[in-house]
Amino acid sequence: MRIVVLAGGIGGARFLRGLKLAAPDADITVIGNTGDDIHLFGLKVCPDLDTVMYTLGGGINEEQGWGRAEETFHVKEELAAYGVGPEWFGLGDRDFATHIVRTQMLNAGFPLSAVTEALCDRWQPGVRLIPMSDDRVETHVAVTLPDSDSDSDGGSGSGERKAIHFQEYWVRLRASVPAEAIVPVGAEQAKPAPGVLEAVAAADVILFPPSNPVVSIGTILAVPGIREAIADAGVPVVGLSPIVGDAPVRGMADKVLAAVGVEATAAAVAEHYGSGLLDGWLVDTVDADAVERVEAAGIRCRAVPLMMTDAEATARMAQEALALAEEVRGA
Ligand code: GDP
Ligand code: CA
Repeated sequence: MRIVVLAGGIGGARFLRGLKLAAPDADITVIGNTGDDIHLFGLKVCPDLDTVMYTLGGGINEEQGWGRAEETFHVKEELAAYGVGPEWFGLGDRDFATHIVRTQMLNAGFPLSAVTEALCDRWQPGVRLIPMSDDRVETHVAVTLPDSDSDSDGGSGSGERKAIHFQEYWVRLRASVPAEAIVPVGAEQAKPAPGVLEAVAAADVILFPPSNPVVSIGTILAVPGIREAIADAGVPVVGLSPIVGDAPVRGMADKVLAAVGVEATAAAVAEHYGSGLLDGWLVDTVDADAVERVEAAGIRCRAVPLMMTDAEATARMAQEALALAEEVRGA
């Protein structure tokens, strides 16, 4: 069975670990979000690709969900001693090596997809990991910064409206101000990376893990051609809700959902994807009352436990998603 999964970072990576357990013989292709990518200290950092690679390759910091296990931060400390930031983005020493290798290969002319494949040679994630695009796409967030946090001369109380990099919004500001708009800069001109459309066309099942619907899966779908290929693939497309009990399980997805006018509920996220894209949707058992509304939108829906508390629980979620896909196929 050929499974294609669109993935962000933590939610995508943890789900993939369960999927590999649930379908050990499946051929899994992961299309990774690169809208979170950022250049720091002259290095290209791809947080979501690395989270998937480290999680499936056994190198992730388990408690944190991102970054390397057994990490140290000497380079960061030395940079800070020179007054070189940003101090808000935690790059550890082990992690730095990945970004150095990546940047070196990119500078030598290799596309990001080839670089990712080379990095995965070491990590052996057990899936084929492809960035959504080899072209640069960077998610920006339009915000109005309070006067104290902006360069404006202050006093007016109106703040300054500006677009900041998604990482600055997410990591530095912790989404503490409303996101007024989310813009995947460069997406319109980006082309799907080699292998992306081919994998979608060859898939037996396409899964949306409980990744962020706006800045993870939404960004992947913003690359022209990907959404269309998925809608036209003619195979079941099944998603799992990252929203449980009307709140994100982890993180601040509600803030970016608000920016696109979607309420933070399992049903609203399904409607946001829409029946043109999604055939099936899993909500958590606490959201069982959402099933009717999702089905009314033309999307087959089941309520099952959706907390990825451990690999086994996550494998059961993946099993449910595959079962729902078969149900859709048989319908
Ligand atoms: P990021 O790029 O690291 O933010 O990760 P993703 O976009 O892949 O996933 C983030 C989403 O995962 C968040 O919106 C969370 O609500 C969701 N999430 C995290 N853990 C769980 C879980 O155990 N169950 C469910 N259903 N969603 C989860
Ligand atoms: Ca991310």
